Amino acid sequence: MLNDREKERYKRHLSLSGFGNEGQVALRDASALCVGAGGLGSPASLYLAAAGIGRLGLVDDDTVDLSNLQRQILHDEGSIGKPKVHSASNRLTSLNSDVRLEVHPGRLDRNNVMALFRQYDLIVDGSDNFPTRFLVADAAWLLGKPLVAGAIHQFEGQLTVFDPALRSPCYRCLLPEPPPPGTVPT
Ligand SMILES: [Zn+2]
Repeated sequence: MLNDREKERYKRHLSLSGFGNEGQVALRDASALCVGAGGLGSPASLYLAAAGIGRLGLVDDDTVDLSNLQRQILHDEGSIGKPKVHSASNRLTSLNSDVRLEVHPGRLDRNNVMALFRQYDLIVDGSDNFPTRFLVADAAWLLGKPLVAGAIHQFEGQLTVFDPALRSPCYRCLLPEPPPPGTVPT
């Protein structure tokens, strides 16, 4: 059941045919992990928090730079030089304090990826490099977790969902091996 405050807050979802009360409760009971708090992770995590996801994880090892602010809308001028998970946490908490926010400062690697991914229902990849993309894709696939992978380059963007439960192709069906370093842009 949704309380009165939730009914008010998510009024537009509740009146949206195909989403409604059932969709809102399912979203509140769900969790997602966003890999990267940059140009893709910013809008993804802001919208997930605004929409009322129950639990949101964020993993990032970077600090905020002035040149990030043109697109990485989680961060602001006061965050320059500080960890991105710090400004992300402040922004997302002030946006929706009902969301259980879990920040994971540090780099995702082969030693921590499985334990981290296991804690979430769905993985969002907003990373900016191929080694991380393949690590994320392989780990999500092995764990049977749906992966929402976003990528941009200049004026083009791609958004793909890989869901083992739907017997969809995996990331490696599309790109079997990481490109050699330096041959393609991040
Ligand atoms: Zn495959």
